[in-house]
Amino acid sequence: MLKIEQLTKIYPGEPPVKALSDITLEMGEGLFGLLGPNGAGKSTLMKILAGLLEPTSGKVTLDALDLANPKDRIRHYERLGYLPQDFGFHGHLTGERMLSFLLELKGVTGPRGRKALVSELLERVNLAQAAKRKVREYSGGMRQRLGIAQALAGDPRLVIVDEPTAGLDPEERLRFYRLLSELAVGRLILLSTHIVEDVATLCPKFAVIRKGKLVAMTTPKNARENLKGHIFEGVVEQPELENLRNEYHVTQAMVYEGANKVRIYLEQGSPPVGFESVPPTLEDAYFISMKNESNGAIATGLENVAGGVL
Ligand code: ADP
Ligand code: MG
Repeated sequence: MLKIEQLTKIYPGEPPVKALSDITLEMGEGLFGLLGPNGAGKSTLMKILAGLLEPTSGKVTLDALDLANPKDRIRHYERLGYLPQDFGFHGHLTGERMLSFLLELKGVTGPRGRKALVSELLERVNLAQAAKRKVREYSGGMRQRLGIAQALAGDPRLVIVDEPTAGLDPEERLRFYRLLSELAVGRLILLSTHIVEDVATLCPKFAVIRKGKLVAMTTPKNARENLKGHIFEGVVEQPELENLRNEYHVTQAMVYEGANKVRIYLEQGSPPVGFESVPPTLEDAYFISMKNESNGAIATGLENVAGGVL
């Protein structure tokens, strides 16, 4: 459905910034996660897919529509919903007015008129009760749901949401997860995030990018299974942690009852005294892939995609 081929983006300047480097990816219907740390190139990719930024080279097609072709691009816009990372809300407007205004900008009326569409969309994202309240009184989660409402107008085939869960509290995040998974039926929702839990909870498939490069494309289950028998956990005091870091591949270290609960990745050999084998998590796989420069398939814990799509 969405095909990205050898996409590269270089921001001109002194020095130029290579934000995306030869990205090749294919996605079908459902939720697809794009996971990566700040500066990885997620927003750049999302803007290109939304048709708002020109790539330096490469090709994007959605259902055989080529984004580089101006005629196709117009049809692409009609099939697209986009919630940018820095979505500007007008706090003085009510939720209802704000949404109506956005639909007007987007040129979407709906079969029974804009007013009916506004009510329908607010209902859909569970904001009907708050329709007459000013957006400045909305919580972070309510704002993001309003953002999703505008993205859904026109029943798009592709919905792009850029870091929508950053800044939401745990309860709002769960609520937002539920909404996204409901909406993923019959369309592609592309979710960019730096939060591993988003991907672990929501996305049957995901890709990892780092420094503009695709590091992996896999499923949460495979990513965990690749590390089975290689993750060990133990509790150590602070000075010991430094030694461990020098000798082993530490994936996570959490302060725990005044000491450190440490997880290490061990390709072979014996673990430190007192460490036990534990089930791998997606966090382990992610942190290993972020640290590892070689991107080897086992070494990252994720399936390697250097040079192609799995
Ligand atoms: P992410 O969304 O994953 O945090 P971005 O796509 O925003 O990453 O940024 C990727 C890289 O491109 C970063 O190094 C960032 O500083 C750079 N970058 C982003 N936008 C611009 C721009 N308009 N001009 C120059 N460099 C940019
Ligand atoms: Mg971003």
